[in-house]
Amino acid sequence: MRILVVEDEPGVAHFVRQGLTEAGHAVDVARDGREGLEFALAAEYDVIVLDIMLPRLNGLDLLREIRRRGGEAPVLLLTARDAIDDRVKGLDAGADDYLVKPFAFPELLARIRALLRRPPLQAGSVLRVGDLEMDLAARKVIRGGKSIELTPREFSLLEFLMRHPNQVLTRTQIAEHVWNFDFYNESNVVDVYIGYLRRKIDRGFSSPLIHTVRGVGYLLKAEVE
Ligand code: CA
Repeated sequence: MRILVVEDEPGVAHFVRQGLTEAGHAVDVARDGREGLEFALAAEYDVIVLDIMLPRLNGLDLLREIRRRGGEAPVLLLTARDAIDDRVKGLDAGADDYLVKPFAFPELLARIRALLRRPPLQAGSVLRVGDLEMDLAARKVIRGGKSIELTPREFSLLEFLMRHPNQVLTRTQIAEHVWNFDFYNESNVVDVYIGYLRRKIDRGFSSPLIHTVRGVGYLLKAEVE
């Protein structure tokens, strides 16, 4: 999924970006509050990871500004160990959760998974479309009882499609949630990855799940039985 990280400490930003990218997410990093606001307004993020102590515009003011402008992306705040007051203010300002620094990376990933599970997204950590199943926690994909190996990017693309079943998704919508700003200007990247997924998900099965909507985009849909 598409994640914005707003963090001014280069070491933390690097570690978080690398870990989230390895987990298959598309990550943009903003280095201060103003840049964070520009990014947050320019793309539809699925989660925003937000440090509180930031130059130019602090995390709480940034969060209030995002919410004031109608931004609804789940926000995970990064707070200092002793800053209880910040956590309370953060939750009041519209944060969904917080994590105390320093944190272990698996905990950050688990918190992000929990935020991605919230409504209106499907509940639980297993997504299902027809005979296709994706276990988000175990990162496993099974179709018709057969286990399917996906790269992190393919997994992320399929996850986005499975979170929006029976819905026509444009290439831009797909690109915005699966790739970061560095990639989504490469015009055919979505088509190329849809091709990879088709080979793994649909090849060898009698009814395809991935459908092309000519001139528009793609649709993940199971045939009604
Ligand atoms: Ca900071």
